[in-house]
Amino acid sequence: MIVEKAEHYLERIEKVNKRINALIEVNAERVLEEAKKLEKDEKAKKKPLYGKVVVVKANINVEGYTISCASKTLENYIAPYDATVVQKIKENGGLIIGIANMDEFACGSSGETSYYGATKNPKAEDRIPGGSSSGSAAAVSADLCDLALGSDTGGSIRNPASHCGVVGFKPSYGVVSRYGLCDLAMSFDQIGPLTKTSEDALLLTNIIKGKDLKDTTTVETKPFEKKDIKGFKVGVIKEFMDVVDEKIRNKIETSIEVFKDIGCEIVELSYKYVDLALPTYYLINYVEFFSSTRRYDGRRYGYKIEDVCGEEVLRRIMIGSMISQKEYSGKYYKNALRARNLMRNEMIKIMKDVDIIVGATVPKLPHKLGEKLTPMEMYSYDVLTVPANICGLCAGVVPCGEINGIPIGLQIQGKPFDDEKVLNAMIAFEKSIN
Ligand code: GLN
Repeated sequence: MIVEKAEHYLERIEKVNKRINALIEVNAERVLEEAKKLEKDEKAKKKPLYGKVVVVKANINVEGYTISCASKTLENYIAPYDATVVQKIKENGGLIIGIANMDEFACGSSGETSYYGATKNPKAEDRIPGGSSSGSAAAVSADLCDLALGSDTGGSIRNPASHCGVVGFKPSYGVVSRYGLCDLAMSFDQIGPLTKTSEDALLLTNIIKGKDLKDTTTVETKPFEKKDIKGFKVGVIKEFMDVVDEKIRNKIETSIEVFKDIGCEIVELSYKYVDLALPTYYLINYVEFFSSTRRYDGRRYGYKIEDVCGEEVLRRIMIGSMISQKEYSGKYYKNALRARNLMRNEMIKIMKDVDIIVGATVPKLPHKLGEKLTPMEMYSYDVLTVPANICGLCAGVVPCGEINGIPIGLQIQGKPFDDEKVLNAMIAFEKSIN
């Protein structure tokens, strides 16, 4: 059965991928060989991911594939090992079918900065799919696989999930191992699932999570179980709603009503640091990214990153290098770290009396492919997603409707390590609207 399924998806990829450019490497021969091996293995049939076909973002190591981070810098890098999450997928019977396109080094919110060209939004082909996990979201949305892995530093799982009409989940920081993920900003990065249903997001999170000796920031968590959310207190942050375009806000307001029908109580909350979100996130991102790019100096991978990278990556390296210098660090980086603490403490405080927070994922609809945005316009897509990374929260996205055929995703956030609550709220919401 898995061979048949692999053939089905390979055919779809052949037909659809040329147009949407979601996948940048597919080795049909290898996939079929692995599918045959799985089908012959009686033990594999009892495993939780048996029969699931998975796509992996191009910044997560899969042994034998080109893990380029969609950059010319790493175009010749063949992964010599599996990331922990990939190893777990394989051990649990999953079949990896290909490597997904993305914004170069995960720097972006639109899927347009890849060295391999932009990805199209399968639900609205003249629009961006969102990013940076553009190919992972588009592959799920275009039915080129069952499940996908993305990474989320400031919204890169949730933003494209919202634009492409699929489910996405960013686990709490430390729940999933980052071993084998190419860092963007390591104190924010988390790997997570992009899926067709919230139950699949729960399934895949349970597989990939867990303490990993190769990533000392990981912690062990109990398996996330399906539970009722009746009686949940659902917070709505006024200032998060205020920055959202009216049409999207209306959809979100309707979605909030759904939680009342499920038997939840809505609580209005106020968060005074929304304005700090983007400057805090980008300053820390620049500094951490600059530091992680120092290994791409040409000696090991052939190209020096500054010689071959795109505009956005170069901007981050230049600014990151400047503000990392001693004379500036007090002014920018330390202030950003201070702001991060402020934001985190306040968020934990206002979330004390609620189970989850719901709201929009992105404040505006995805722009048309090719439209030129200023860096600040591009960054402004992230205002509602970066707080979760800054504050260590878990956060998921579920489709909640469309505007002129363009999908809209509802964002559900939870306190650090309340992943089970968020996943269950996603499942309950999805069930109620379908
Ligand atoms: N858009 C954000 C950025 O460019 C988030 C990226 C991400 O989550 N990888 O940094």
